Amino acid sequence: MSKAKNKNAYLGIDIGSISTKGVVIDSENKVLASSYNWTNGNPLGAVKDLLLALKKDLPSGYVVQGVGTTGSARRLVGVALGANVVKNEITAHAIGTLSVVPDVRTILEIGGQDSKIVLVNNGVVSDYAMNTLCAAGTGSFLSSQAKRLDVPLEDFANLALTSKNPAKIAARCTVFAESDLVHKAQIGYSKADIVAGLCRSIVLNYLNNLAKGKQIKAPVVFQGGVSKNKAVVKEFERELGLPVYVDKNGHLMGALGVAILSKSAPALLKEFSFDVADVKFETRGTECELCPNSCEVIQVFRDEVLIDSWGNKCERGVKNA
Ligand code: SF4
Repeated sequence: MSKAKNKNAYLGIDIGSISTKGVVIDSENKVLASSYNWTNGNPLGAVKDLLLALKKDLPSGYVVQGVGTTGSARRLVGVALGANVVKNEITAHAIGTLSVVPDVRTILEIGGQDSKIVLVNNGVVSDYAMNTLCAAGTGSFLSSQAKRLDVPLEDFANLALTSKNPAKIAARCTVFAESDLVHKAQIGYSKADIVAGLCRSIVLNYLNNLAKGKQIKAPVVFQGGVSKNKAVVKEFERELGLPVYVDKNGHLMGALGVAILSKSAPALLKEFSFDVADVKFETRGTECELCPNSCEVIQVFRDEVLIDSWGNKCERGVKNA
């Protein structure tokens, strides 16, 4: 009896500072397995756990022929896994999103610690912007305010959607927003109105800062952790006057994008295994002095070669710390 032939599969991993996401797809880009966990400051540990979960869910008969990494720790994890493609988040998210919404023109993304806008024309990225420096337009701002107001994050959107009179919250910066929030409570706004005001403020902050001067055209896709908040989606639709699409797998788009890219990259140098051996890296802590942010940067070396860094809020700090 002849043995069944193995089918090709491709792994994509998106390692962010907050969460780590992974998918395994087949040759037709169908997702065979996916997983998600917290990075907890330990990207290699998070990836090991992620791989165990993916291995468990992957149907038998598939062999991983390509591995792609993206996200802030993409180089480190790329070296550890022997990836055949390592790509920045902008390209990875665009490729992943195009595979789901082929005519997408605008990708809005608000994650835990950063936000992005990517404009796409005829399937190619034509412009983009990223914010990694200011917390006011990110998910961490919403979650810290939810805590201050004693509203569980999962109730935030539903409470906001009950508001008839959203409070106007100063949206430019977290410090102003926080003091404004206290002021609005003191003058009698309900919790629902304040929460609705916060959802609006995050949208206004995004559109007036990150997306300033960018031509937002339909179809518009919204992704990242904050896209799960229906009140924020509604505010985007109201402000843009356009429908905003949120895919249930929106958080996986970066991972999906690099999995797709790994299909056409040069072949893996060695056979992929879900059981990653311990790889030794040397880390050195230092401070970047190129601007007043004074980021505390952790540089990662293997054989004296700098392969990745943490804590730098911009690319300038990678080598110059
Ligand atoms: S990495 Fe360096 S240049 Fe970039 S924000 Fe931090 S201190 Fe400034």
